[in-house]
Amino acid sequence: MIPLNIGLPQTNQLVQVSPDLYWGRLPLPFRLNHINLYIIDTDQGWVLIDAGIFGEPTEQYWQTLLSGFLSKKPIDKIIITHHHVDHIGFAKQLSDLTGAPCFTSKAEQAHGEFLFNLSPDQMSELIASNYTRYGLPESEIEFGRRDSQRYRRYVPALPEFHHFSLDDTINGCHSQWKCRIDSGHSSGQLSFINKDEKLFLPTDFLLPRISPNISADIRDPDKDVLGDYLTYLAEMSSMAAQIAIYPGHDWPFTHGNDRAISLIEHHNHRLTLLFTAAQERPISTSDAMDILFNRRFESHELFFASGEARAHLTHLVKQGKIKKQTDIINGNLIDMFTA
Ligand SMILES: [Zn+2]
Repeated sequence: MIPLNIGLPQTNQLVQVSPDLYWGRLPLPFRLNHINLYIIDTDQGWVLIDAGIFGEPTEQYWQTLLSGFLSKKPIDKIIITHHHVDHIGFAKQLSDLTGAPCFTSKAEQAHGEFLFNLSPDQMSELIASNYTRYGLPESEIEFGRRDSQRYRRYVPALPEFHHFSLDDTINGCHSQWKCRIDSGHSSGQLSFINKDEKLFLPTDFLLPRISPNISADIRDPDKDVLGDYLTYLAEMSSMAAQIAIYPGHDWPFTHGNDRAISLIEHHNHRLTLLFTAAQERPISTSDAMDILFNRRFESHELFFASGEARAHLTHLVKQGKIKKQTDIINGNLIDMFTA
C-alpha cells in the first residue's frame, strides 16, 4: 500500500481527482471519525455515492454542497454502497432533499430492512440469543440488550430502493464505471471500477489502515462471510499495482494488491491462532475473543469483536478443520468449537 499524494478534502469541499470523480469527507461521531464520499459527474447530473450517517453535521454538509458546487447540475442518482449506518443513515433525507432516486444491491436492501424492521424487543432478543450462544458473560449479554437500538438511532428512515446489479455501469462524462458486488464486510456491497483511468472505489472492502470488520451475519452466524471475503481478497491480490484506490475511510492509495495480500495474511494468522487453541480444548466464541484480542469490549465494539471472532470460527468449520457442537452450560445453549 502506497498513499497517493493528494490533500484531504477540507470541510464542505470536494477534491476533483479525475475528470469525472470528486472526493468529499463527512464527520462521524465515532473513533473512526469520518467517511469518504464520492461523486461522479455524468451528462444526466451528479451521481452521489453514499449518504453519510443521520445527524445535524451530515445535513449541514449536504445543504452546503447542494446549494453551492453541486447546484449547477441536477442530482441524477444516490447510490448506497452498503447498509452500514455511516453509509445509509442519511439516504432517505438526502433523497427527499434532492428528489433523486436511491439505488443499492438487493442483498444490502434486504440486510438493511431486516435490521430496520425489527422492533426494539425483537432486536434485543436477537442480540441476546446470539451473545448467549457465543458464551459471552451475562454483563456483556445485558450490554447487547441495552445497545439494541443502535441501527435505528443512526438510520431513522430508509428510502425506497432501486437495484444496481453486477456489471451495471455509471456512464460518467468522460469514462465508464462498472459495478461489482461482493460479500464479506457486508452482504452485497457495491463498488465501482473505472478501467480506462485505472480508478477503483472499493468502499469498505479494501482500506489502507484498518482491517475491514468481518462479522458473522446476525441473521445466520453459520454463514461463511470470511470465506467470501478471502475469495474477494484473492482476486484483489492480482490487480495491477498502479490502480488508484479511493476507499470508504482514510486516504487513497496504490498497490492495493499488496494490501490484499497483507489482509489475507492477517486473517490466516487469526485462523491459525484459533485452530491451535481448538486443538487443545473446546473453545467458545467468547474464548476466541480472548485469544484474538486479549481484552474485552464495550459499546458497538463488542458487537464487532464478537462477530469477528465468530466469523473466523465459522470459516474453520467450513474448511473442515474444526467442528461445532452445542453444549448446555448453566442452562444455556452454547456453541463450542473443537478440532
Ligand atoms: Zn461498512
